[in-house]
Amino acid sequence: MIYFLLFLVLWLPLGSECHAGDFKVAIDIGHTRNSPGAVSARGVPEYYFNKNIGMLLHQCLLRDKRFKNSFIINEKGDDISLWARAAIANSQGAALFLSIHHDSVEPKDLSYWQYQGEVYPHCDKFTGYSIFYSEGNRNPLNSLIFAVILGSEMLKNGFCPTLHHAEKFTGGDKDLIDMTRGIYKYNNLIVLKSTDMPAILFECGIIKNRREELLLSNAEYQYKIADTILMAIRKYFVKN
Ligand SMILES: [Zn+2]
Repeated sequence: MIYFLLFLVLWLPLGSECHAGDFKVAIDIGHTRNSPGAVSARGVPEYYFNKNIGMLLHQCLLRDKRFKNSFIINEKGDDISLWARAAIANSQGAALFLSIHHDSVEPKDLSYWQYQGEVYPHCDKFTGYSIFYSEGNRNPLNSLIFAVILGSEMLKNGFCPTLHHAEKFTGGDKDLIDMTRGIYKYNNLIVLKSTDMPAILFECGIIKNRREELLLSNAEYQYKIADTILMAIRKYFVKN
């Protein structure tokens, strides 16, 4: 299936002609200031990691006139539902929806350590990014095609996927469909199944991993992630 998709990506035009600025990417910064998601191995909430990558990606997109009308959903981190995030992307006519997140692990995999006088849970057993798409999205094929392109670009730039979401312990609703590129099918993700355009949720890395947290906190590393996503968007755009 994946190889068939790669054939599609490489050889077939996927959609209609697009003009400069028409291709708007909706960047969804995962979580909010009040409900900030996972907590890193050093006590930093996920929301702030998501915001860094989301803002950097937005800056990258604005520099390319083809994507100049791309926008961030909930830039200030106010309380907003998952359905409202999708509704904003739909009402603004986004061509692609990217939900930016940073990953955690299951409680069974956590250990504890002290950092600056506080005890924090951590897990150094897993490391890497993951990509989720949903068959419940209006355009699952193009969602998957973008996931394949993004996974390929991540590998090309030296990033590795984590496969820990494939463990049956996690509930079994995430299907690892491409272990090389770290792509999972996760049909029930609300932001993915409520959006009208192709959509993926991207976990940039695991902030519970002490070493990976340091990388994900590094400005150069963050830029490398944002730039890799930009490269994937450019490749996807060429096929549209
Ligand atoms: Zn998250």
